Amino acid sequence: MFERRVLVTGGSGFLGSHLCDRLVARGDDVVSADNLFTGRKRNVAHLIGKPNFEFLRHDVTFPLYVEVDQIYNLACPASPVHYQHDPVQTTKTSVHGAINMLGLAKRLRARIFQASTSEVYGDPDVHPQPEEYWGRVNPIGIRSCYDEGKRCAETLFFDYYRQHKLDIRVARIFNTYGPRMHPNDGRVVSNFIVQALKGQDITLYGDGLQTRSFCYVDDLIDAFIAFMDKDGDLPGPINLGNPVEFTMVQLAETVIELTGAKSKLVYRPLPSDDPKQRQPNIEKAKELLGWQPKVPLRDGLTKTIAYFDGLLKEGDPLIVG
Ligand code: NAD
Ligand code: UDP
Ligand code: UDP
Repeated sequence: MFERRVLVTGGSGFLGSHLCDRLVARGDDVVSADNLFTGRKRNVAHLIGKPNFEFLRHDVTFPLYVEVDQIYNLACPASPVHYQHDPVQTTKTSVHGAINMLGLAKRLRARIFQASTSEVYGDPDVHPQPEEYWGRVNPIGIRSCYDEGKRCAETLFFDYYRQHKLDIRVARIFNTYGPRMHPNDGRVVSNFIVQALKGQDITLYGDGLQTRSFCYVDDLIDAFIAFMDKDGDLPGPINLGNPVEFTMVQLAETVIELTGAKSKLVYRPLPSDDPKQRQPNIEKAKELLGWQPKVPLRDGLTKTIAYFDGLLKEGDPLIVG
């Protein structure tokens, strides 16, 4: 009945729920598998009851037997607060999750996408980072469960590609923001917006001069789907993100301006292993997919602020408490 059957792991999370929205809207038959560790039922509540959407509560560290044509593997907590909550489970999710999803893809001969991360570059000494850069990652630090877990998942993807001729697509995602980000997962965009909306001080870690490049979620999902839809031998890895770089002070000032908040900037210690600079080189994605981000930071922030404002007005327990 539907043209394509697609599995999205982590489909109740921030990125996964937007991906499910888009796939359902275009008529794919979508199964979302999520253990709801950081995801929320409310992120996909509007999809429940549609004939081409199904939610499975499932932990990807265990095998999964479903019949699909494409797999997007997004399951993994993404913010330091969440991935450091149970670091062993974080590594298991990346590594065992990759093995299980690759085993599933191998049995089905299905194309499989991996949500990798700019964190595979660690605290880079090459700037901006091209895909050829091998990274500078601490293997025993507090971020290692995430960084090394994702690096090992990439290793597994490329070994299944070479050894089992699997059709893989590996994307290294840089900081992305938008509606349905977890309100208190400690990421900078959600922190600043929630602090501003509540009239609290904005917390800058370190001197606030470290940089990040923020991609709006809709732009990123365009790239995921373009990458998966493109036929050929295209394993990647490719960087996906917005190359426009901002300091955290600039981000704080923009959030204050757009919310009209009276918040002050306050400085807190910089967490260990916190990268000083991060900016994607997206030449490969441009060339391969004809893709580049379209949404400017101010427009994306305006939509994200409206989402968090809605949660506050509704009294959502995650934001009010
Ligand atoms: P998120 O925390 O909102 O979503 C992750 C989802 O995975 C959640 O719904 C969570 O419940 C689920 N999950 C976690 N462990 C699981 C397990 N063992 N089994 C099944 N489900 C599990 O995070 P997100 O921002 O949507 O990130 C999605 C993916 O993209 C992650 O793999 C993340 O590493 C990657 N990524 C995100 C960003 C970003 O800026 N948002 C940047 C780089 C990479
Ligand atoms: N697997 C799964 N669903 C499937 C097929 C495999 O979850 O439809 C898991 C299973 O747990 C297996 C893992 O994927 O251990 C790797 O599969 P593979 O065939 O690569 O290796 P195996 O361990 O079976 O030799
Ligand atoms: N950050 C900050 N204040 C906050 C939260 C984060 O200054 O309230 C900083 C953090 O130290 C880092 C940057 O913002 O330098 C981005 O942090 P985030 O956790 O969002 O992403 P990541 O470090 O994984 O890129």
